[in-house]
Amino acid sequence: MKDRTLLMIPGPIEFEPEVLAALGAPTTSHVDPDFIEVFGQALERMREVWLCPSGQPFVVAGSGMLAMEMAVANLIEPGDKVLVLSTGVFGDRYGELLSLYNAEVTVLRAPLGDTIALEEVEAALKANSYKLITFTHVDTSTGVRVDVKSLGDLGRKYGVLTVLDGVCSVAGEELHQEEWGIDVVLTASQKAIGVPPGLALMVVSPRALAAWRERKAPVASYYMDWNNWLPIMEAYEARRPSYFGTPPVNSIFALNVSLGQILAEGMSERFARHRKLGTACKAAIRALGMSQVSTNSAHAAATLTAPYYPEGIVGSEFLPRVKAASAILAGGLHPEIKARYFRIGHMGATNPGDLLATIGAIETGLRSCGYDCELGAGVAAAQQTLNS
Ligand SMILES: *Cc1c(COP(=O)(O)O)cnc(C)c1O
Repeated sequence: MKDRTLLMIPGPIEFEPEVLAALGAPTTSHVDPDFIEVFGQALERMREVWLCPSGQPFVVAGSGMLAMEMAVANLIEPGDKVLVLSTGVFGDRYGELLSLYNAEVTVLRAPLGDTIALEEVEAALKANSYKLITFTHVDTSTGVRVDVKSLGDLGRKYGVLTVLDGVCSVAGEELHQEEWGIDVVLTASQKAIGVPPGLALMVVSPRALAAWRERKAPVASYYMDWNNWLPIMEAYEARRPSYFGTPPVNSIFALNVSLGQILAEGMSERFARHRKLGTACKAAIRALGMSQVSTNSAHAAATLTAPYYPEGIVGSEFLPRVKAASAILAGGLHPEIKARYFRIGHMGATNPGDLLATIGAIETGLRSCGYDCELGAGVAAAQQTLNS
């Protein structure tokens, strides 16, 4: 029998059968005309999904961490001043990564579960001249979403490059890279883009490419240097063969399938679907008497939910029981509260049926751990939202 356990974590996620079929197809040459066409099309589609018609897409083998590092390796020279907005683990990581590249890093850290007030960000930008500011659209350790549009406005107002870690948001949360003035938006294949792990993806604005071209120190990484990758991306898009490092052929076939599905759904429809699923999941969690790491529903992510366990429930007992009831969830990640909460991913191919099954599995898990909740209360609350 097919294993029908749902993978409901914040990446990797459930993947569409057509995407998996592309991944499992016989591998062709990376200079085969069919592959060149598909790679070129995938690059064109990325501009549409990122809503960044004048951006330059990059696709390289790697995970989201590589995408984060690639942006830094190309845009930062030793001594550059960088402002990092941290709303959780991934923001903190960006601070560490930037320090390794000898940037002069200032980290503004949000209180746990909260965002950083825009006035505070603006005051920092006024007080110091930064080259670049980084922020995490949805920090996967807290489920907090930041106001990317307003931060993009601030970036433009103060002439600072903006780098968005969109690993848990691109193709899920509403995002208009070009209109909102974000210079780099990066992600990884296994989250809302809907392709198994293996691809680091980003779209770079003309302004960021210009800043990269003006750098004095050479890029201190051979693999990540845009000098090596830009000609490759340009060649494939012009439907010419090219080679720097072997592209992950099957993953790129799968990427093109998934991007096609995303565009067929429509970006605004897709954003709205994620918003609805996110709201429904949060309503269910509230109905089951649990609170969430994000302190305000206005900045709670659409792509994942991070509930605190009820009093007396521990993850090592609860999570295996939820899995036995057919949904795999993730434990906590943020070091301050790691053992006190869990995470539900609901992005990409997730549909209302998947979400309702997951809420049902959570109810079963809670009950079998001895928590007194009314069976069906979470499902009913989610249904109210899904049918509104
Ligand atoms: C998952 C994630 C990353 C890291 O991506 P990997 O593919 O695991 O390297 C970075 N930032 C955010 C916000 C993420 O959710």
